Amino acid sequence: MSRYWSDVVNTLTPYLPGEQPLLDKLVKLNTNESPYPPSPRVMDAISAVSADALRLYPDPESVALRQAIAARFGLQTEQVFVGNGSDEVIALAFMGLLKHSLPLYFPDVSYSFYPVWSAMFDIAHRTIPLDQDFSIDPAAYPVKNGGIIIPNPNAPTGMLMSLDSIRALLQRSAESVVVIDEAYIDFGGESATQLIDEYDNLLVVQTLSKSCLLYTSPSPRD
Ligand SMILES: *Cc1c(COP(=O)(O)O)cnc(C)c1O
Repeated sequence: MSRYWSDVVNTLTPYLPGEQPLLDKLVKLNTNESPYPPSPRVMDAISAVSADALRLYPDPESVALRQAIAARFGLQTEQVFVGNGSDEVIALAFMGLLKHSLPLYFPDVSYSFYPVWSAMFDIAHRTIPLDQDFSIDPAAYPVKNGGIIIPNPNAPTGMLMSLDSIRALLQRSAESVVVIDEAYIDFGGESATQLIDEYDNLLVVQTLSKSCLLYTSPSPRD
């Protein structure tokens, strides 16, 4: 099939997933998985779902889930969008909000998928070097841009940007969308979700994959 690949696929470098060793009794940290099983209440909730319900499409607007997320963050249901993992949400944001004639900006050391989506969706992009101490300086980002995306805390540096710095970034580039990718925010730091009502150019993305990962294999202690 590979001879039928499109031009864009030919330019991509395949992603190498983290190694999944087949050894038992190993606490794996390389792909950010939790060594602990979910709370018994999670298991109860899963068991309470009737398998019969799975033959129907779920609510296409995920209203119950969006209401629960909105209540958790003090937002309106209409302000919440859900997808199949934040990679999907970010990919949709690249296509729908970050593809413009001016380039998209992100830090030179950050989530390795940003350059991949940029290439896939043919989005002009530039990287901005981190400061000497690995921090991100909002003043280093051009005022005129096609969008900005920054993980906070940044990955893989673990460096946190303050809400004041994020405010500065949002004010500086008020004509374009700033995406704050909060995959690791639960490990320390204040969420920019509290700025959503203040700035209409802010998109905050979170995921259940890191701090809330559902790990159903037997725990390594078993
Ligand atoms: C893991 C990760 C994601 C994607 O997580 P999903 O499993 O797709 O929800 C997005 N951004 C960063 C910075 C990540 O580390």
